[in-house]
Amino acid sequence: MIAEILCVGTELLMGQVVNTNGAFISRGLAALGVGQYHQTIVGDNPERLREAYRTALSRADAVITSGGLGPTVDDITKRAAADVLGQPLTLFPEAEAMVRQRFAEYRREMTPNNLGQAMFVPGTTLLPNPNGTAPGAIVPAGDGKVIIHLPGPPRELEPMFRDQVMPWLAQRSGRKLVSRYIRIFGMGESKVDSLLADLERGADPTLSPYCSTGEVQLRVTAAADSETEGLSRIAPVVDEVKKRLGDVVYDVCADEDGSLARSAVEALKARGWTVATAESLTGGMIAAQLVNIPGASDAVRGGFVTYQSEAKTMLLGVPAATIETYNVVSAEVAKAMAQGARERLQVDVAVSATGLAGPGGGTPEIPVGTVYLGLATAKGVRAIPLKLAGDRDRIRTLAMKHAIHAVLCAARDTEEAAL
Ligand code: ATP
Repeated sequence: MIAEILCVGTELLMGQVVNTNGAFISRGLAALGVGQYHQTIVGDNPERLREAYRTALSRADAVITSGGLGPTVDDITKRAAADVLGQPLTLFPEAEAMVRQRFAEYRREMTPNNLGQAMFVPGTTLLPNPNGTAPGAIVPAGDGKVIIHLPGPPRELEPMFRDQVMPWLAQRSGRKLVSRYIRIFGMGESKVDSLLADLERGADPTLSPYCSTGEVQLRVTAAADSETEGLSRIAPVVDEVKKRLGDVVYDVCADEDGSLARSAVEALKARGWTVATAESLTGGMIAAQLVNIPGASDAVRGGFVTYQSEAKTMLLGVPAATIETYNVVSAEVAKAMAQGARERLQVDVAVSATGLAGPGGGTPEIPVGTVYLGLATAKGVRAIPLKLAGDRDRIRTLAMKHAIHAVLCAARDTEEAAL
């Protein structure tokens, strides 16, 4: 397969903007083994752009454009391509919904000319744009050829090219995409980004971050002729990420369905351990996450939901005096809950969680977001204090994840990492 890049924008010709998109796409094409003989920069001039399309289509299978997808009069990239293909631009309802959704998210008013961003020639495959309003497109251009439109801003173009266009081109050119998923807990996405910025800009292998509450997943992907070749190219990048991020990397998975709970259940089973939970503010979330993992019954013995203080005393044997003296949200109560669960269910490890999820009830001494976990093993019992931020949902979810992470570290005998 031969590709040709067509960067659109007078600002590029004038030297006001450096053509980093051309370099980024080129590195990706090289990684995929897709050939490239020419690259063009053309200003915002319809006639010269049409001519550039005709020339590029005469010598390449895929013409990849950057820029000119905006709503203004000089955003002519799609219109010129439609003219060359002799096709009309029509409104795609699915694209309109994407554009409207972005405007709503950005709380910006949508003017009628913005609908131009939702217009494409018939037969187009849309490329969602998670970081901007203009969707990209893969447009059939006859004889099995395509024109691929991407927006100009690099923060929009780069993830779209890496996550959508590269897999599409790899499939087309008969190459295999091999991926590994690095799971991270205990470091925010922006910190991860700042430590890995240079690796994330690379195109071989590519590195894409995804985040959910408290967790980041990095997908490392290489295009290769075989699984073995792909893995050998991925391995040094995975090692470098682990070196830079340290203990916050808790797993490297072959599929994208990894989770703290899956790693914890696997670690418990590998050690032949059983686990029990004693939950207050998480109300059963820890146990629910663990039993969500197929085969959890080998490791998860059971759990207690002890929401009111009386339940902590009745079911777990937490002395009423401990609650009275230290407060129900305290290291001592968390420890007593974990110890009680461990003794009652005769397990190797028990984890507990007590805390204040809010929104009300906070005091200067115990503000909303104060959480104590307890972790009891044969080595003894200890408390893990947490100061969590966010709304009720987020605090409960983070408490649950920290608790499962503590179990994971205990089962792997790296308990210190849980602190
Ligand atoms: P928008 O909706 O933001 O107008 P667009 O798809 O129409 O996006 P352009 O208007 O062509 O894109 O470019 C927007 C900005 O993206 C430019 O001002 C420039 O900062 C950047 N940009 C465009 N092309 C490139 C390029 N080839 N390399 C690096 N940056 C670029």
